[in-house]
Amino acid sequence: MNPKLIKNLLESKKDKVCFFDFDETLFLIPTINASKILWKQATGKDFDESKYCFHDSPDSFNDSIIPFELKRSVYKEYLRVKDDSITVILTHRKKHLKKEMKWILDRHGIKMDYFVMENNNGSRTNKAVMILDFLKDNNLKPKMIEVWDDKADVLIDLDKFQQQYGKDFEIKIHRT
Ligand SMILES: [Mg+2]
Repeated sequence: MNPKLIKNLLESKKDKVCFFDFDETLFLIPTINASKILWKQATGKDFDESKYCFHDSPDSFNDSIIPFELKRSVYKEYLRVKDDSITVILTHRKKHLKKEMKWILDRHGIKMDYFVMENNNGSRTNKAVMILDFLKDNNLKPKMIEVWDDKADVLIDLDKFQQQYGKDFEIKIHRT
């Protein structure tokens, strides 16, 4: 699609922004330890963590070794909102993995408008902060946002976010 069409399409959807977590929300994946065992079985070698820990590595998206099981309930929600909302991946996976993550999504017929990914090398950024920065950077003032996530500490941060910003826009949090 040409850039002007994409811009018009996003403009028509801007009243609602939907944020989807990736791991254990859109996709069920093996634990890190189970993934490393699968890696060793497939390659005959221990995973080399000298450069990246497993989940920070592009290899962690090699779906011929690591199975990605689409969570049907969340996929259905994606189908429900995709045509009239701006869709965004909101993940603590690192920014340098965007291409690999997009590839997995493509293979399952999922097209997200934006990817909001972790910048930090140390502690994880609060997802509420990631949402606010994203809206500001893209000059978006939606009437409603919806968020899907599985992690207890993220959901606590999102509940606080809802209490603080619920007057500015309607916020729906989905525990996946
Ligand atoms: Mg998750």
